[in-house]
Amino acid sequence: MRRFEYFEPTTLGEAAALLARYGGRAQPLAGGTDLLVELKEQLRRAECVVNIKRIPGMDTLSYDEREGLRIGALVTAREVELSPIALGKYSSLVQATRELGSIQVRNRATIVGNICRASPSADTLPPLIADSASVRIVGGKGERTVRLEDFFTGPGKTVLAVDELVTELVLPPPLPGTRKIYIKHGRRKAMELATVGVAVTWNADVKIVLGAVAPTPIRARKAEDLLRGRTLDEKLIAQAAQAAADESRPISNVRASADYRREMVEVLTRRALQRCI
Ligand SMILES: Cc1cc2nc3c(=O)[nH]c(=O)nc-3n(C[C@H](O)[C@H](O)[C@H](O)COP(=O)(O)OP(=O)(O)OC[C@H]3O[C@@H](n4cnc5c(N)ncnc54)[C@H](O)[C@@H]3O)c2cc1C
Repeated sequence: MRRFEYFEPTTLGEAAALLARYGGRAQPLAGGTDLLVELKEQLRRAECVVNIKRIPGMDTLSYDEREGLRIGALVTAREVELSPIALGKYSSLVQATRELGSIQVRNRATIVGNICRASPSADTLPPLIADSASVRIVGGKGERTVRLEDFFTGPGKTVLAVDELVTELVLPPPLPGTRKIYIKHGRRKAMELATVGVAVTWNADVKIVLGAVAPTPIRARKAEDLLRGRTLDEKLIAQAAQAAADESRPISNVRASADYRREMVEVLTRRALQRCI
């Protein structure tokens, strides 16, 4: 591993100032399950690492009926996996966290780290987008909120400026009767990145989000339009699943060919919608 400067700021202001000082050559550190591996393998360079774990107020996982679920930047995947409120109201997110790495990884990995790494195959992104999550961001110029759907700009790329940190994710409360599904498909059953991931949140406003089949997670909007306001039956499900496959833009890589991925989008979208009924 190359040498880097290391800081443990205790306020967001201090962290933002450090990130600004290094102008893109500094990396925030949360659980480190992505960052430290990438630094060690020299897949990424950092002149400076800014550990954000000593900043108070970002380790809260809370729910209220008006605001919904708030996931602070230091909340781990394991905490979400074991949260009864998350299981009851955000079951597809819990399903995604259960499939993220191993228990050891989940005990360190944060949900916010999963989104900030911006891997197209990251497990929590499809269910979070399907749940209409938004991201609270703090930087040198103040605070802003961005819909998670608009947060990603490419593989490993987000709208974050160099001096900005994500402080929390906010998920609105689900409408009564909402159904939520996340299905991950990989080459192995465990310790595997998704070859394809499909999340469906089904209520009056259906959302279908596809992971690992485009440079960022994407909404299958044509499929959603077909389904909105309709009663699900096998014919409609087949049409929507085909529309989702047509909307995907997969690449071929070591995990799967583009054709296989496209076909799996069709299969998994069909299965997810069938589970909704
Ligand atoms: C063995 C192994 C298995 C894995 N399996 C899976 C898997 O199945 N599915 C999956 O999706 N992922 C998997 N991962 C990847 C990883 O565990 C997740 O992406 C994890 O959620 C990252 O969180 P972290 O807190 O460890 O992030 P870190 O490594 O600390 O950070 C990740 C990135 O986000 C940035 N960052 C972190 N927090 C913030 C913040 N608050 N504001 C701005 N930027 C921030 C960091 O600078 C870095 O670029 C695996 C990793 C390992 C090592």
